[in-house]
Amino acid sequence: MRKYHTIGWQGITVNVPENWRLAYARGTFKEGSLRVDDEQHPRLEVRWTKAKKNAGLTSAMKRFLAVLKRRARKEGKKLQLSESPQPFTTGSAVRNRELQCFSWSTDVNAWGAIWRCRDCNRIVAAHVIFHGRNKNFTLVKQVLSSVKDHPSPKGILWSARGLRFRLPHEFKLRRRRFRTDSSKMEFRVKPRNRLIVAWKGPAKREPDAADLTRLASRAFKKRSRRRFKTTKTERVLSHDGIAFVETKAKRRSRAGVPRTRKRFYGVAFFCPQRNRRFVIMANDRRRTLVSETLSHFKCH
Ligand SMILES: [Zn+2]
Ligand SMILES: [Zn+2]
Repeated sequence: MRKYHTIGWQGITVNVPENWRLAYARGTFKEGSLRVDDEQHPRLEVRWTKAKKNAGLTSAMKRFLAVLKRRARKEGKKLQLSESPQPFTTGSAVRNRELQCFSWSTDVNAWGAIWRCRDCNRIVAAHVIFHGRNKNFTLVKQVLSSVKDHPSPKGILWSARGLRFRLPHEFKLRRRRFRTDSSKMEFRVKPRNRLIVAWKGPAKREPDAADLTRLASRAFKKRSRRRFKTTKTERVLSHDGIAFVETKAKRRSRAGVPRTRKRFYGVAFFCPQRNRRFVIMANDRRRTLVSETLSHFKCH
């Protein structure tokens, strides 16, 4: 039996084999795309867009195909397309959805579906790609029928590259950086709140409070004048960790007007199971943002 894990991004969730991971994602909740790769190749692509009023699935399908054709042409390949009459996504996948299946091939083969969800009014296209002679219809079915296109009322699940947490809808993703040995995501919440979630690993030795504080400061750009200070050690998600606060850097003011800005408060901890150090921080003195994020956070 293959093991699966969930990738969550901008309100889209999909279950994929464990060795597939998010390679690329762009856009917003309204419109965007993501690609999931295995160790060598692209394996899944999902694109979503808010449906225009009265726009049918046919025009959305046309636009989607144009993207595929353009891409194939750029790579000097010829795209063969067939609309698959047999819907291979069944059950909950087609519930309350207008759905069209398709398959295409260049030097790779792909099966996919495009649908409009009547609940959230998004049009979503998803296809699974096979390289070489490998084809696995069960896998296609399993992956495509697991795609959920609207977030639960509990919030949006962000689950990718070693981070997994749930945030309310009003948190907008502003930046993310994924490397092989680290991940970082930054969110904005109106009016002026920021929330940062990050990990770094592997650690050569078990980090102490000073190491964790240093890690917190590095979650910002190197040139930053921010200083971070441990306020206390504490258990975070049953791991050893610290609570920290950002102390004021030297004040630089223009024309004598003191700059005001919000300080950061957060936690950092070490998860031995994953051998990673995690940081969650927000410019929220009461630390509600941090503790709420932690309550839906999974490190291992
Ligand atoms: Zn939906
Ligand atoms: Zn852990």
